[in-house]
Parts: sequence; structure tokens; C-alpha cells
Amino acid sequence: MSSSRPSFVIAIDGPAASGKGTLSRRLAQHYGFAHLDTGALYRATGRDMLAAGLDPRDSTAATAAAARVDPATFDDPRLRDEAVGQAASIVAAHAGVRAALLDLQRRFAASPPGGLDGAVLDGRDIGTVVCPDALVKFFVTASAEVRAHRRVLELQARGLPADEAAIRADLIARDARDSERAEAPLKPAENAILLDTSALDADAVFAAAQGIVDQKLFEATA
Ligand code: C5P
Repeated sequence: MSSSRPSFVIAIDGPAASGKGTLSRRLAQHYGFAHLDTGALYRATGRDMLAAGLDPRDSTAATAAAARVDPATFDDPRLRDEAVGQAASIVAAHAGVRAALLDLQRRFAASPPGGLDGAVLDGRDIGTVVCPDALVKFFVTASAEVRAHRRVLELQARGLPADEAAIRADLIARDARDSERAEAPLKPAENAILLDTSALDADAVFAAAQGIVDQKLFEATA
């Protein structure tokens, strides 16, 4: 990134399995921007708590675990386990955990690794808290049924068993915890663009988002 120009930031928020991860990766690849899956930070914190036999509700221990989170471990397949997702959403409700992870996210957005011109961050509070001045903000949603079905397909692709009713119940529980917490709850930023992916495939979601980002980049660089 040229040091004279601020990084272009695309903020993508939404509930679990809404399609925001796929969209984020595709946008990052298309524009040559860096991508940060911020859920991995909370998942790694939850995973480390469970591995150490600690209770994710313990805010002091969770804050210490968040401060030690190592991005080098983010490709660990265990991060995707449902139990880790649930632990992530419990640790994510602690103010100390969120504070411990905030700087890393903001630094990534402001100075994307590799000197790239921009960054795509996806999570729950990117447009509202982490990057309120992002160039463009999307809030990606889909019905609980569609999201549960997508998660089943993901698990099956990994050769893992998948009980669709249980997965749907877990997603709804996680959404409720994420939306109702006091700290940085899941909600669209005021100026976020809503993308309901229930009836769209990944290509259609990407095309819709790309049109909007192209326009914003044009305005920003004109
Ligand atoms: O996006 P993902 O499902 O991997 O996120 C796991 C959990 O991490 C979420 O359920 C949420 O509680 C938490 N999270 C968060 N803020 C973010 C990203 C994730 O609270 N920016």
C-alpha cells in the first residue's frame, strides 16, 4: 500500500453461515485485497479455552486467552467445529476479549499485510465497531433454514456427520447470543447495504456486491 493513501476497507457482517465468508474471500481475491475472517479470532480463543479445560464463561481466563491468540493457528480444521463456534460466541460476549482483539483487527484494516491496497474484514461488528469508516459495508443474511442447510453441506464435504435440526437449533442459539449481547452486538451498521442470500448462489451474491464496490471505489478515486 502506498503510505500516502489510506487502505480501502470492505466491512462484511452477518450471522453464522450467511455466506459472508465466501463473499469476503471472493471480493478480496478479485480486488487484490487482504482478507481477515475475524470469527477465527474468537473461535481460536474458544478453542484454546476448551483445550485448556477452561469455562468460556470465565471472562478473566477468556481475556487472557484472547490476548495470546496466534493467527498462525487459524487454518486448524478444529476451528470449524460446532462446539468451538458455540464457545466462540460465549467468549465473544466478554468486553475484555473484544478489547484484546480490537487492535489486531484495526491494524490489519489500516495496514493490510503484504502492502496491499485494501482489506476485507468479515464478522459481526466490523461496520459498527471495528471499521466504522469503511469504504463500503455489507450486512449479509439468509434464512435459518438456508443457513443450516449450507452448514450441513459443509460438514458433509468434510466427511463429518450432520444433523440438520440440531445444527439449525445451534445456529439460532448462537445468533440470539450474538444479537442480544451488550458488547458490539450483531446488527447492521446504519449505512450497511443488506444482501439477503437465501435465494442467491455465491456467483449472484458476488456480482451484486462487486457492482456496489466498483461504484464506491470509483467515487473514492475519482
Ligand atoms: O463468523 P464465525 O461463525 O466464525 O464466528 C464465530 C463467533 O465469533 C460468532 O458466533 C460470534 O460470537 C463471534 N464473533 C464476534 N465478532 C466478530 C466475529 C465473530 O463476536 N467480528
